Amino acid sequence: MTTRPGRHTWGIALTIENIPPATMRKFVANPFITLPDDLRDLDGFNDGGIVLEVLDALCVRCRKSYEDVAFSPCLANEQNGKHLRGGMDNRAARLVPAPGQRADEVAARQQRELARRENAALIQASRLSGLS
Ligand SMILES: [Zn+2]
Repeated sequence: MTTRPGRHTWGIALTIENIPPATMRKFVANPFITLPDDLRDLDGFNDGGIVLEVLDALCVRCRKSYEDVAFSPCLANEQNGKHLRGGMDNRAARLVPAPGQRADEVAARQQRELARRENAALIQASRLSGLS
């Protein structure tokens, strides 16, 4: 199924209780359910099928509740986190940091910047010497 940007993809969440252990082992081994064949072993299944309660209705892309976003566009990130990854698109990732960006170079630069700063006593001494 294709999805268009801004369109929600609705899904529902169900919980099926009291699954017999043998059926549960089957679901764990193969986590896909074929309706209605895989539900025939469950309590409450009859010729008309089985009644299940819809516990949640949500967009599977943006994970928002149907009631909250039914009339607003889907804001799911279609870029798959691309905006979080640094660097340019048209070149390979750097294997070596750019000059001056290594941790030891940054620490040395910060130490030099800290060394230039006067402490409070020196500031006061220079102000006092300026008064005389
Ligand atoms: Zn959505």
